[in-house]
Amino acid sequence: MSYPANRTPEHLLASDQAAGFEISDDFERFDQRNDIFTRAFWDERVTSNDTDAFFASYRMEAAPRRGDGFTQKDFALRNAAWLISDIVSERSAAEGLREGFQGAIRDDTPVAPDKAELGTPEAEAAEMKAIAKLFGADLVGITDFDARWHYSARPDVRTMEAVPNDLPEGLGQVIVMGHAMDADLVETYPSALAGAATGREYSHEAAIVMQVAAYIRNLGYRAVASMNDTALVIPYAVKAGLGEYGRNQMVLTPEYGPRVRFSKIFTDMPLAVDAVKPLGLKDYCEGCDVCAVACPVKALPFGAPAFGGKGPSAINGVKKWTSDAEACFGYWAKLRSDCAICMRVCPFTMPRRGVLDRLWYRLAVGELGGWGRKVARRWAGRRARARVKPREWWAARRP
Ligand code: SF4
Ligand code: SF4
Repeated sequence: MSYPANRTPEHLLASDQAAGFEISDDFERFDQRNDIFTRAFWDERVTSNDTDAFFASYRMEAAPRRGDGFTQKDFALRNAAWLISDIVSERSAAEGLREGFQGAIRDDTPVAPDKAELGTPEAEAAEMKAIAKLFGADLVGITDFDARWHYSARPDVRTMEAVPNDLPEGLGQVIVMGHAMDADLVETYPSALAGAATGREYSHEAAIVMQVAAYIRNLGYRAVASMNDTALVIPYAVKAGLGEYGRNQMVLTPEYGPRVRFSKIFTDMPLAVDAVKPLGLKDYCEGCDVCAVACPVKALPFGAPAFGGKGPSAINGVKKWTSDAEACFGYWAKLRSDCAICMRVCPFTMPRRGVLDRLWYRLAVGELGGWGRKVARRWAGRRARARVKPREWWAARRP
């Protein structure tokens, strides 16, 4: 499905403006085969012995190596954390579909033949958020379906050939859920141990998104559960009012900074949508480059957001900060685990535990004016904590 700029619906253009999205006439929907993780299976510019060993390490095939954070225990914990997500993503792989990653999660329950009696869309939206939190979501927002963020194609994972990525018609609302990563594990990035924070949330989100979708189908409405598949979640999370896009390529949320993953559900249940909120986080980013400086392979941009980026993994036609995805993933492959230094060092990642942390946040998001943001940027360097060594993380869990 093509999506010419001149056919973007008015209500989406209004929320684009509120979200600060700038989209040019040469915008093109993104083909998921160009996602850097997918390219590692077909594009010789990305594929290497290191990328093969990276994926093998998730099956405990790589020998643990010297180095704190990369022992057998570290890999064992990380890979156990991924288990539930892996079970879901592997169950249809023989049919070319990696559910939750390269294809939406298949319905596990039918749609009830009778529709439940509903209240107003506002009341149902509030109740739906409470139900999502009951199942374990940490953040929930609702926004309009927007075909621009949907992959133009997805790969058949048996052949990596393009296959259609269409959803059923009429799923007009998107429930976006945030899943907070464990703060103590995140402090040990980069390490295989820290990768347990990523895997744990993928496993959590697989369970939560499937349960919330089943609840909606039990009410007589359609619901497609989705993780990284089907559509880019970042613009949806921003439009749902959950956060703002940061220099480190992640959504910065007021509650957890970038220390959060997102899932989504496409539904035809009538639910009121959330408004985009100015949160002050992106404004802070504009004068900060802590993540770009800390990146070991300099994959993050300095300077202002711009159109385009390096290589086919960059999206065309959206003004934003764009990483060098090949450099970033090349580093992950060498590590045999996800890196996320740029998440760890972000001053919004640290939990706000005391009065000074809360004062810093108020300054950082501009509640006390532009001068406050400048003070917060200077203060951030002194607040920064050094990386926690993985062996210290393990030691803290023993008597
Ligand atoms: S480290 Fe600074 S520039 Fe990077 S995402 Fe966080 S606030 Fe933004
Ligand atoms: S994940 Fe690591 S390599 Fe990739 S951009 Fe962030 S700091 Fe750089």
